[in-house]
Amino acid sequence: MKKVVVLGTGGTIAGKASHASDNIGYTAAQVGVAQLLADVAGMPALLAGRLLESEQVAQVDSKDMSFAVWQSLLQRVHAHLQADDVQAVVITHGTDTLEETAYFLQAVLPADLINAKPVVLTAAMRPASSLAPDGPQNLLDAVAVALTPGAHGVVAVCAGAVHTAMDVQKIHTYRLDAFSSGDAGPLGYVEEGQLRVLRNWPLAPSDKAYIAIKNIANDNRWPRVEIVMNYVGGSAAVVNALLRPAPGVDPLRGLVVAATGNGTMHEDLEAALRRAQVQGVQVVRATRCASGRVVSGAHAEFEDANGLSPVKARVALMLALMSS
Ligand code: ASP
Repeated sequence: MKKVVVLGTGGTIAGKASHASDNIGYTAAQVGVAQLLADVAGMPALLAGRLLESEQVAQVDSKDMSFAVWQSLLQRVHAHLQADDVQAVVITHGTDTLEETAYFLQAVLPADLINAKPVVLTAAMRPASSLAPDGPQNLLDAVAVALTPGAHGVVAVCAGAVHTAMDVQKIHTYRLDAFSSGDAGPLGYVEEGQLRVLRNWPLAPSDKAYIAIKNIANDNRWPRVEIVMNYVGGSAAVVNALLRPAPGVDPLRGLVVAATGNGTMHEDLEAALRRAQVQGVQVVRATRCASGRVVSGAHAEFEDANGLSPVKARVALMLALMSS
């Protein structure tokens, strides 16, 4: 029998408050992943006789997620996926930046591994100390998804729904069902340990990704890419400030604009981005709309984000700059 490896990175799922009734005044990343797993392992029939192993890769509130943690996580996920006796990897993570980590892993893990085995991220909106925590059920559901025959690619499981790395987005600040797949809809739902699949498992984007993984392993300098937003009274000021050299700060390599609507922006911001592009900064145009994608015309001035949200477009641009 093959095993499922559960990697802990922290988050609210591992959070603790001083009162069970407190679901917001907690400290994230307090409980070890071995304990989280022990809390559910004895329970359902689903896990009886299953080989489950845990490993603490990090212990952070995911608002503080760093490239250093990504680097370690990638190495551990990669190593486990390569092992013949591993069926799947589950990752416990904070909800705040889960979508970025999911997208990152889907983009860089080698296609032969990620198209054969699943990597399932899960999280919680309430701390482990809560009167009614959502973490144990989410972890259980994530393991159920990981054990589903044919499962592959990077997905996220929360509140009974399964989202692909490409589509998942945190859309609520407080509700337990905090994630959405937008227009695409979820990949499926977990019901009493069974996955009801609604659409295809995700496939690795391209072989180019594998170039990035090597660069990530060898080089911990990530190209600096920032996000600017369009809004009423938008101007050149933020872009100009980002372009200005500052001591100890890497020079800017890329900019993602979270444009309004279908990729529109204030003319002053647009002019500033044009100047940045002339100076060698790569500009990508995403939208600040929660759903839909920028539908570009034939003569679009800036590359569009290919349907990615601004935060994922930033990760994609960093990886592209790294692999070029
Ligand atoms: N700030 C927490 C985190 O992202 C929120 C959560 O996990 O729900 O780690």
